[in-house]
This record gives sequence, C-alpha cells and structure tokens, in this order.
Amino acid sequence: MGEESSGDILTIEKHEGRRKCPKCNNENPHMIYESVDKSQIIMDYPRVYGKKYKCGQCGAEWREV
Ligand SMILES: [Zn+2]
Repeated sequence: MGEESSGDILTIEKHEGRRKCPKCNNENPHMIYESVDKSQIIMDYPRVYGKKYKCGQCGAEWREV
C-alpha cells in the first residue's frame, strides 16, 4: 500500500486563486494540508525544500510547479 511512496504524487501547474485538489476539486483550505517535500530541493545552501499538499478529503497528494 506504499502510503508514503513519492512515486504517485501529482504535479500540477500553480495557478491564481484558491488552491484546490486536482482529484476531487476540494477547495476548502482547512482540508488541504501543506507539508515539506524532501524529494524536491529548491536550493542547496541554505537547504530549501519544496512543498507538497495533501487533500484531507480524498487523500491525493500533489505538488505545484
Ligand atoms: Zn481531493
């Protein structure tokens, strides 16, 4: 069940306005959780990681580029 595997994270284009789940279109900010994505290094020094988001409704994970 690889819940923590990073292989199935969706990548979507960053867009203006509300952040919403690419899978179920949930756009309730209290149901979208932001976390650090350590597989995505934005800067080496100081070390800055990208962010990823998880939908609290359907469990989809994605990152925005
Ligand atoms: Zn969702």
